Amino acid sequence: MSGIDDLPVRDELRGKSPYGAPQLDVPVRLNTNENPYPLPDELVTDIARRVTEAARNLNRYPDRDAVELRTALAAYLTRTAGHRVETAGVWAANGSNEILQQLLQTFGGPGRTAIGFDPSYSMHALIARGTGTGWVSGPRREDFTIDVAAATAEIARLRPHVVFVCSPNNPTGTAVAADTVLALYEAAQAARERGALVVIDEAYGEFSHQPSLLPLIAGRPRLVLSRTMSKAFGAAGLRLGYLAADPAVVDAVQLVRLPYHLSAVTQATALAALDHTATLLGYVEQLKAERDRLVTELRAIGCPVTDSDANFVQFGIPTALTGRWGDPAADSHGMWRAILDHGVLVRDNGVPGWLRVSAGTPAENDAFLDAVRAVLKENE
Ligand code: PMP
Repeated sequence: MSGIDDLPVRDELRGKSPYGAPQLDVPVRLNTNENPYPLPDELVTDIARRVTEAARNLNRYPDRDAVELRTALAAYLTRTAGHRVETAGVWAANGSNEILQQLLQTFGGPGRTAIGFDPSYSMHALIARGTGTGWVSGPRREDFTIDVAAATAEIARLRPHVVFVCSPNNPTGTAVAADTVLALYEAAQAARERGALVVIDEAYGEFSHQPSLLPLIAGRPRLVLSRTMSKAFGAAGLRLGYLAADPAVVDAVQLVRLPYHLSAVTQATALAALDHTATLLGYVEQLKAERDRLVTELRAIGCPVTDSDANFVQFGIPTALTGRWGDPAADSHGMWRAILDHGVLVRDNGVPGWLRVSAGTPAENDAFLDAVRAVLKENE
């Protein structure tokens, strides 16, 4: 049998592995920042009704421009994110990963460079690679905030075509202040004649203590906000992401989007979910309270914890266990394994000394906290 290396794959893909969290069959899975609440029955019924209607026309291609859906998304943002957006300034795709891919296909590509500030969402670098865009990993402070002076200096030096800012940031949970985004935007515009695209990845925006960064797009034609229905809407399986920006950015991504990329079934399902926004945002409030409880209880147990504005929490090895498995990287993996031995799957994102747990139901979070306490006790 031949392998990948026997195929004429692109050089930059040789020896690489696909992105993906380990999927293990354990009782409590808190590793992929999913929303733990299944969609409510009334919404499931509405989806079935809308999808039945859509099925009657599946012999036809879907609305290529997804106008009804984009209008509903624009209304949702206008209502909840502090800034009026029009249909022409919203674009939708199969998950925000596809949004980011379309942006890099349009504004990145061979001979161009994108920068992000690590640790951050590792798909930014992988989508850059997949689109032939050069990638530079920019600096972050020890406390995981972005050092504005260092970041703007890096932008001035590298003159990137695309700048990624993830807020709240995955995996650290930290939100980025509006002033920081503005400083990065100014630096990115000054660095190139036609400016650079600055993408705010706000996949976890609804969970933040801070207001959305959406209002910053006003008067800034190269600032893009990316969002998803995978987290706050509890619809990771739907695959629906969207962006808000100057309408010219939406026009530009038309140059690379595949025709009819968003199926009629997807559009119908997303529209049904948007009709139930109030109920779904109610779950978000519960998750925010659980997220805050995880922060408080983990600190009480003795774990270092990064303040979180997302539906997950980054926590470190309790002081009592530092060095228990070796160095910081080995410690995080040892701790990950030990928690898994208690039936709870969290995420080791490869940030030395740190792990990430998604906020689950109260019972799942209790199981996780019990597991951490048990690991501490076993290693006393
Ligand atoms: N951005 C961030 C920061 C994420 O964490 C994720 C998913 N984990 C995504 C984007 C992509 O989400 P989706 O494609 O499901 O919209």
